[in-house]
Formats: sequence, C-alpha cells, structure tokens
Amino acid sequence: MARIAYVNGCYKNMRDASVNIEDRGFQFADGVYEVCEIRGGRIVDLPRHLGRLQHSLSELRIALPMALPALSVIMHEVVRRNRVNYGIVYLQITRGVARRDHGFPAASVPPSVVVSARSLNFAKNQNTAAHGIKVITYPENRWPRVDIKSVALLPNVLAKQAAREAGAYEAWYVDVDGFVTEGSSSNAWIITHDGVLVTRAATDAILSGITRAVLIDALATMQLTLEQRPFTPQEAIQAAEAFVTASSQIVMPVVMIDGKAIADGIPGRITRKLREEFHRFALFS
Ligand code: PMP
Repeated sequence: MARIAYVNGCYKNMRDASVNIEDRGFQFADGVYEVCEIRGGRIVDLPRHLGRLQHSLSELRIALPMALPALSVIMHEVVRRNRVNYGIVYLQITRGVARRDHGFPAASVPPSVVVSARSLNFAKNQNTAAHGIKVITYPENRWPRVDIKSVALLPNVLAKQAAREAGAYEAWYVDVDGFVTEGSSSNAWIITHDGVLVTRAATDAILSGITRAVLIDALATMQLTLEQRPFTPQEAIQAAEAFVTASSQIVMPVVMIDGKAIADGIPGRITRKLREEFHRFALFS
C-alpha cells in the first residue's frame, strides 16, 4: 500500500511528497514538529501535543498556519489514509518558502505544513521493553532553549549515533554541572531505593515531554511519590530502576548506563507497571 503524506494542502503519494528547496525548514531548520503515538488507530494525547506545538511556534514567532481543529482533522486523515493501527504521526511546521535570507520573510509568507504517519512494530517494541535498553552519557551541547521542539536536531542526531555506535539505544545528555538533562529523544527518569520517582523539572533545559506530563498526572493516582530535580549518572547507576519516556516508546526501561548495570540489570518492577498502566491515563482521539 502506498504511503500518503499531507504537504501544504494536498495529500500526496510519499514518493511525490516534497518541499521547495527554499523552504526555511530545509535551509535553516527554521521550524518545529510534534510526534504523537497512534494506538488502535487513534492519536494519543493530541490536545497536549497541540498545546506544546503552540508554545514552540509562539516562541519562534511562526504563525499557526490554521486553527488547531483543522490541524487535528489533517492528522487524523493522514493516519486513516495510511491505515496505521499502531505507530506514529509526524507534524512539521516551518516558516515557509522564501528567498534564502537569515532574517524572517515577509509576514505574508505562509508557514509550510507537512504531516506523515507510519506503522511501528508493536511486538518488536514490546520485546525491547522486556529486555530494557542501554544508555550512554554524552556532554550536553545543545542550545539553551530545548523546551522548543525545533527541527534543528543535529546535536540529537550525533548523540543518538554515538549511542548506536556504542551498542546502546539512547544517549543521556549531561550538563556542565554533571547532571543528566534528558535523552537525545526522550526524558530521563530514575526510581530511588525508597520508591521515589525522580525526573528533572521542565525548564528551558529539557523538552517538556507529553509522556512525562501524563505520567506525572498518573503518579498521583497510583500513589507514587515524585521529585522533580536533577540527578547525576552516578545516582542513576546506583538507583533501583531507571527508564525513559517518549511518545513513540511510552515508558522504556533502562538497564545499563555506560556499561554499568542498574540493580540486577533487568527492567524494574515499578517501571514495568508504569508501562502497562500508562494508557489508562492517556487521552485517545
Ligand atoms: N526530549 C526530547 C529531546 C525528545 O526529542 C522527546 C521526544 N519527542 C522527548 C523528550 C519526549 O517527549 P514526548 O514524551 O512528548 O514524546
């Protein structure tokens, strides 16, 4: 079956879906994006993703190209046309097409909008989660506004590649003070031996993950204690459990950091429970 993408007003076959070479996303990475999980053919936590999209756009002074309900209709339509049951939907908005010049183009230049969707392998992801993932640490080298979900992901690309080359799945950025900020495409968490969940507060230094936010809401209901504070790789290695959160992975256990096993080197009990229960707290549309 041909894959379909939405590009600036048209639904196109993936092979014909292209943007202008003077699109500012292509030229300057001058754009933002969102990735939502699709489960049972429905989009998970879309209103929260659209809320964060608005934050990213307004921080960069890119106009919202259409009302949010219209964007939602397009995202659902792309999911439907691609018949994705389990997978992800990707939305990208850039500052549009204009002759190459660093400064903003005229306000009349419309933002570009691209939406695509694809299936993920559910069994494979479950298998990865059953074993847990390895992470490496990596020096934080991103700009100080990573709360904006910008498509400028070169540092994230390099960190992820470093992880792969080390036989790991994710890289955890460590800031100049020696604390973990987040993963190259996920938020970082640990669970202490007292059963306290620890994750860094959502400041400009991390992306305010939607999975993270939903999980924080869920913790209260599950009577689990949360501390929003930084932690070091050393504390993580000595923790009872560790995991990462992201829309495409939900709660993914971490079993090794820089080659050192966490606890007995298998996914932790609370982490597994959070993964199993997560979708009870998610909003489907
Ligand atoms: N941090 C970064 C750098 C990410 O790229 C992602 C994934 N988009 C996350 C955190 C997790 O965010 P979310 O739960 O919204 O997918």
